[in-house]
Amino acid sequence: MKEQVVTFKADKRMSEQLKNIPNKSEFIRNAVFKALNNVCPVCNGVGVLNSCQQDHWQDFTAHHAVERCDDCQSVHLACEHN
Ligand SMILES: [Zn+2]
Ligand SMILES: [Zn+2]
Ligand SMILES: [Zn+2]
Repeated sequence: MKEQVVTFKADKRMSEQLKNIPNKSEFIRNAVFKALNNVCPVCNGVGVLNSCQQDHWQDFTAHHAVERCDDCQSVHLACEHN
């Protein structure tokens, strides 16, 4: 796979801290990879749904509820069908 260079802005403190990391590229690659795997699959981390997604969401919530887990206190989706 062809590699591309991605640049980003870091504030002073962050760039100071990054200076001390021996393999910066590897470190940042790993961090971004981890974050992308955990990002919300619906909104891609944006945090809001566009109007089409809201329509789909309305359909979905007819049979699904947003609940809080008693064990871990995390919000999750519960399906009416099970
Ligand atoms: Zn989301
Ligand atoms: Zn849980
Ligand atoms: Zn379901």
